[in-house]
Amino acid sequence: DLLVVGSANADLVIGVERRPGAGETVLGSDLVTHPGGKGANQAVAAARLGARTALLARVGDDAHGRLLLDSQRAAGVDTVGVLVGGAPTGVALITVDPSGDNSIVVSPGANGRLTPEDVAAAGSLFHASRVVSAQLEIPLETVEEVVRSLAPDSRFVLNPSPPRRLPAEVLAACDPLIVNEHEAKVILGEGAAGVSDEPADWARLLLAKGPRSVVITLGAEGSLVASGEGVTRIAAVAVDAVDTTGAGDAFTAALAWRLGAGASLEEAAAYASRVGAAAVTRRGAQDSFPTAEEVGAL
Ligand code: ADP
Repeated sequence: DLLVVGSANADLVIGVERRPGAGETVLGSDLVTHPGGKGANQAVAAARLGARTALLARVGDDAHGRLLLDSQRAAGVDTVGVLVGGAPTGVALITVDPSGDNSIVVSPGANGRLTPEDVAAAGSLFHASRVVSAQLEIPLETVEEVVRSLAPDSRFVLNPSPPRRLPAEVLAACDPLIVNEHEAKVILGEGAAGVSDEPADWARLLLAKGPRSVVITLGAEGSLVASGEGVTRIAAVAVDAVDTTGAGDAFTAALAWRLGAGASLEEAAAYASRVGAAAVTRRGAQDSFPTAEEVGAL
């Protein structure tokens, strides 16, 4: 089984002709509200593929929290670990201009109140999970407690987004650490200075920081898998991309699920590439995630 520990947000989207300046008001389109947040997205992506999935997260006791619980349950996610209350549900206020550029303000809300104590109290979810997947839209102390709570034979997958420097204890637990180019640069910090723009070189430098394995996602260029056994390039699946929102979440969820099912890292990444490719052929995040049948048909 897969346990996702992470954020759940309501994404509130308004189309605008142009963004307001300070003190100014502009009129926009009708509001569209989507369930989102990297934790919630990963859980839905995995469950839609057929993975037995649970989510450990926190939402507010409000309409956005109910929207998130409903979307998780509709996808078949076990929500026994979704805690309610303590702060309003996390929100992303998104304006989109006619060129498609986004401006986003995030209020972490209840995501910021998912505490190490909440993780410690969820021991039974950890014991039932072969793979635990996390991101960084919750407090870092909470992610540190996740690492300490792993069952002895379970595997930890981390997508450090939004990226920040990580403690050695967290890095050492990652198998794999999954990063895009921007996240790789932040994790490498000063180590990124003077490095070639060859992703295989970053992968080796990232491995030297302690994770057991590393995956670098490269959008339409596919991905790269690195472990003690070497670096392997995983080809992208050629599709007509419509919207890349959520591709990374779909990729990570699919990879974590396949690893839990016994696939090698290369096999899991090849499957995840197909899932990421399917997700970019449709608009939205959770709405774009494919079923296993749709992945098979690709
Ligand atoms: P992130 O959203 O975290 O930056 P990427 O954009 O690298 O992640 O996407 C994750 C994965 O999804 C890629 O490694 C690739 O397998 C797949 N993917 C993303 N964009 C495309 C695309 N345009 N065509 C085919 N596959 C894609």
